[in-house]
Amino acid sequence: MAKILLLGSGELGKEFVIAAQRIGQIVIAVDSYANAPAMQVAHGFEVINMLDGDALDRIVAKHQPDYIVPEIEAIRTERFYEYEKQGYTVIPSAKAANYTMNRKSIRDLAAKELGLKTADYRYAASAKALSEAVQEIGMPCVVKPLMSSSGKGQSTIKTESDIQKAWDYSQEGSRGDVAEVIVEGFVNFEYEITLLTVTQRDGKTLCCPPIGHRQERGDYQESWQPATMQSEHLQKAQDMAAKVTAALGGAGLWGVEFFIADDGVYFSELSPRPHDTGMVTLGNTQNFNEFELHLRAVLGLPIPEITQERIGASAVILASDHSDHPIFEGIEEVAAAPQSDFRLFGKPTSRPYRRMGVVVTYDGLNGDIKAVTERAKDLASKVRVLK
Ligand code: AMP
Repeated sequence: MAKILLLGSGELGKEFVIAAQRIGQIVIAVDSYANAPAMQVAHGFEVINMLDGDALDRIVAKHQPDYIVPEIEAIRTERFYEYEKQGYTVIPSAKAANYTMNRKSIRDLAAKELGLKTADYRYAASAKALSEAVQEIGMPCVVKPLMSSSGKGQSTIKTESDIQKAWDYSQEGSRGDVAEVIVEGFVNFEYEITLLTVTQRDGKTLCCPPIGHRQERGDYQESWQPATMQSEHLQKAQDMAAKVTAALGGAGLWGVEFFIADDGVYFSELSPRPHDTGMVTLGNTQNFNEFELHLRAVLGLPIPEITQERIGASAVILASDHSDHPIFEGIEEVAAAPQSDFRLFGKPTSRPYRRMGVVVTYDGLNGDIKAVTERAKDLASKVRVLK
């Protein structure tokens, strides 16, 4: 029986803990607040600020886990190198967690070292530098803080007058002490996908069928699997996913994001852990969902194959208000719909746009992916989160 220290206790962590519980592993769930979703199903929990390296050191020393499994980015990940030196296993690796926590390291690795096709990009550490970078890249372009996620601080510059606004906004959304931003040429993509990719200790890398998704405010709204795409584009994305995960090293499941445009497949970014758009796999679209795959890779258990068992979609249930006792209305309608299911994450409080649950829908392999996705959206829209 392994002991897992889970750093981050959101909805993705919760499903990971449930997968671990099913095969008798021990999980200590960590987050900055008590009663976080994954804590509700774990053996134990710790409440700390994970950006505080000393606090992190303390709980690692206290629990001496077999595996340290990050679920979020906002962690003092530099400490992970030290933990590896001490003999701990960080998932997928200290390097992966560090590189992906800052858009600069991962972008330079992908574009410069590995030669993957990405949007044109520059960095800027002031409003003036941003203005110069915009001249070089051209408009429209997208500005993102180097350290941020879920679209925080991200905006699109369409005219000169947007530049100062984009800078100011990026500074509000930046996490940690880095003020720098990345400016990317706007990719006029036809669609975007996540390729869930599993790296294993035996060196074998597997990809899940591609997941299509739609984003708003930098957060995903619906995802569906499989995304319909040309086989050469899929092959290209799989090759890039294999390259970038191999360069970062370690075992685990990764969410690798791509844009598919007229002129080919662009690598966008990746997260070295289960991906929110991958919640579609909770509809049993595959022989193992993304959390079970992650767990097997973490534990070093073989994954003989990944097979698509049915098609499916997920759509998010968002809160619209602040509340410390959110109530759900309309769940009966979701429950009454055939070929559908839902999760409510059990978050103790709500705020506007906070993700509180997800609806999943599915159909047989010959079903219509658009219809399944529309059904997920329609059902999710029937759920209201009340104060
Ligand atoms: P990110 O946090 O980098 O994943 O960005 C969030 C979302 O913004 C992406 O999933 C895209 O929908 C959109 N986006 C980000 N970068 C670009 C870009 N260079 N061109 C067009 N859309 C983008």
